[in-house]
Amino acid sequence: MSEALVAQTRPERTRPDRAGAAPATRRRREVPFFNYPALFAEHREEYLATIADVLARGAYIMQRDLADFETELAAWLGVRHAIGLADGTVALKIALRLAGVGPGYEVILPSHTFIATAAAVHDVGAEPVLCDCGPDSMMDVESARALVTANTAAIMPVQLNGRTCDMDAVQALARDHGLKIVEDSCQALGARYRGRHAGTFGVAGSFSFYPAKTLGCFGDGGALIVDDDDLAVMARELRDHGRGADGLVHRFGVNGRLDNVQAAVLRLKLARYDESLARRRAIAAIYDARLSGLDGLLLPPGPDADPDRFDVFQNYEVQSDRRDALRAFLADKGVGTIVQWGGCMIHQFKDLGLRARAPYAEAMSARYMMLPLHPMLSDDDVHYVCDQVEAFHRG
Ligand SMILES: *Cc1c(COP(=O)(O)O)cnc(C)c1O
Repeated sequence: MSEALVAQTRPERTRPDRAGAAPATRRRREVPFFNYPALFAEHREEYLATIADVLARGAYIMQRDLADFETELAAWLGVRHAIGLADGTVALKIALRLAGVGPGYEVILPSHTFIATAAAVHDVGAEPVLCDCGPDSMMDVESARALVTANTAAIMPVQLNGRTCDMDAVQALARDHGLKIVEDSCQALGARYRGRHAGTFGVAGSFSFYPAKTLGCFGDGGALIVDDDDLAVMARELRDHGRGADGLVHRFGVNGRLDNVQAAVLRLKLARYDESLARRRAIAAIYDARLSGLDGLLLPPGPDADPDRFDVFQNYEVQSDRRDALRAFLADKGVGTIVQWGGCMIHQFKDLGLRARAPYAEAMSARYMMLPLHPMLSDDDVHYVCDQVEAFHRG
């Protein structure tokens, strides 16, 4: 198509395209919320060669690929120990055990989180108590303060969507009441608060390598990070049936090991992880530039909005006055969106009968949704999504 033809068919824009570069007319396309096949296709040959090498060596469980991945992850985060685990939920359970949380205790966590956060607390025999969140989706620390009792053992800040909570406020609350901090940093590998990595604020940090996570493997995977040498020994025992380096059982543990094939894949992904985070932040910057100021649409803080935070945009969660209509409009245009947790904050799962103080989260449950954000999206994909969101708000 000639330049002139493009110019003639270009529709009037009601708002300037502040992100520049992109053409104003984009053909209809499919932008799925997440592209699982692309995860493999991106570096197919390299993955196949690595997996074949592990299989040929017969190195399935607790082999050198796992040890190497643990060393590299610890170095990347600047911590003493990283311990590969079967999934992020096991990491949370082990972290709670390292913190001494058990029966008779309460643990405060936000209601706006994946059920795994609360389930880990329940699984170690303690009671999850649910607090509120604020407009940036993060835990509202003052609402947590109001829930502290004599039985509260720990607070679990959830570093949701690749952003950190107000960790100064979390630490102040923990100090005031002698609480342990157990971070659910499963969505935030690489996020920082005042230069400090998510996962390094409490007793131990947790990560998930579920395929759609920022560092995703080809199945389930997770890790725990910890600085204390004795706690690291305990965590290694807990993940392997309580067995120590001497082969003897020192405590009751679980089978929570990260398998060696996934560890080998994760080593390749970790080597490119900085690049992948930069791409996520660049996409968030496009959304921020093009969609801020639309009526009835609340965006998360942009990548450069807060000098105290480095957000990694695991998700791009927005709030809309007309959420369901916006989702239907986008679906019709080929754009996939998702509402986290099936639209329910944890306290809204009535069958669980949990204690909660979460009015903001409750109202937000009718408003929140996520736009596609992952490194496999092209700039044109992202601008196409923006075109459609703008069209909805114009219409
Ligand atoms: C992904 C995730 C987890 C852990 O999930 P797994 O599937 O067990 O790896 C925990 N908490 C949050 C907030 C998560 O998003």
